[in-house]
Amino acid sequence: NPARPDGVWLSINARPLRDDGGALWGGVIVLSDITGRKRGEEALRAIDERLNLALRSSGVGTWSWLVPEDRLVWDNYVYPLFGLEPGARSQRLEDALDRLHPEDRERVRHEVAHALAVDAAYDAEYRVIWPDGTVRWLTSRGKVDRDAEGRAVRMAGACWDITARKRVESELARKAEELARSNAELEQFAYVASHDLQEPLRMVTSYVQLLARRYRGRLDADADDFIDFAVDGATRMQALINDLLAYSRVGSRGGPVAPTDSRAALENALANLTIAISEGEAVVRVGELPVVRADATQLTQLFQNLISNAIKFRGPDPPRIAVEARRRGPAWVFSVCDNGIGIDPRHVERIFLIFQRLHSRAEYPGTGIGLALCKRIVERHGGRIWVDSRPGRGSSFVFTLPAEEGSPHE
Ligand code: ADP
Repeated sequence: NPARPDGVWLSINARPLRDDGGALWGGVIVLSDITGRKRGEEALRAIDERLNLALRSSGVGTWSWLVPEDRLVWDNYVYPLFGLEPGARSQRLEDALDRLHPEDRERVRHEVAHALAVDAAYDAEYRVIWPDGTVRWLTSRGKVDRDAEGRAVRMAGACWDITARKRVESELARKAEELARSNAELEQFAYVASHDLQEPLRMVTSYVQLLARRYRGRLDADADDFIDFAVDGATRMQALINDLLAYSRVGSRGGPVAPTDSRAALENALANLTIAISEGEAVVRVGELPVVRADATQLTQLFQNLISNAIKFRGPDPPRIAVEARRRGPAWVFSVCDNGIGIDPRHVERIFLIFQRLHSRAEYPGTGIGLALCKRIVERHGGRIWVDSRPGRGSSFVFTLPAEEGSPHE
């Protein structure tokens, strides 16, 4: 047949025809073209082979459970997952459950029952105990087939080993817990240290100040200098400890995170900075500001730090500062831009670390806590903060805060 270069499959059916006496008088021969069916079978076989290959190389085993007669059938790839030699064994569901870790058995039993009862997909993770005592994690997923009346006839699915993933997961969870604990301890330490240092320091400061007042000019010139250094050092230490205390309070003693009008928070910050703004002849331009989920006091603190920096690190021109916000997905992106001295790109990470500064106290006063505090505040709210800047070209401090829940995206 020229239309079928690879030939046709025929099936031949022959039947004798006899008369009433049983004598043969003829026959019927039926020839049918079964090429289509044959091709279908070949294709199925090819799919089956590919599936087998895939299962073998991926370590996935398939199983099916005939529900009414409680017969669980595993393919050859399931056995090694349970540490067993492959072999056709007839087993009940309970036989397989017996191979599970005792702590997981009840849960898996329940999940199977759940899948049968509410027609949910079956999806379970459990430990199996091999005959040699090895414990492995498996995951198993399947679905239920039902008859016309909705009775569960069969549940079938696949399972595979997830021990490596489980190991990583539990290691990660352990690390996260450890980190949270050491963080809490550190925070507590910083708080206690700064809080308890304040009292003796107050005493030192007030007595050296008393010394300065009472004995200035009565001892020699050196003594006057020494007393000044002591007063200066004590005052600075007080400022540092206050900052440290403020820093350690961000996480542990913050107020509630609730819908907060960021415009009101900014206005509070500007009010606190009235003197600095007028002395510096700074102009602050404010765009439209949204309601965000934030701790109102901390949001004010955040704006106040950024704006006072913009004034402090001013360039030759009067400071011009712009505060804006735009929506990006579930967050608001705020920016505080200035026309100040700018920052060398090499230092844009370092400035957010505690007590890290780029200038001496003689050039610009400060302790180097402001931006570290900003970073902590933003991170406590689940946001990020960074800076875009060039020396001499001003800086843009940018941070994100979560939008109020339920407010529409732009
Ligand atoms: P402080 O202001 O006490 O020095 P910060 O943590 O607020 O501490 O800032 C750290 C450093 O980052 C500053 O010393 C300064 O070098 C730099 N910086 C911060 N804000 C600005 C700004 N708006 N323009 C230029 N430099 C800045």
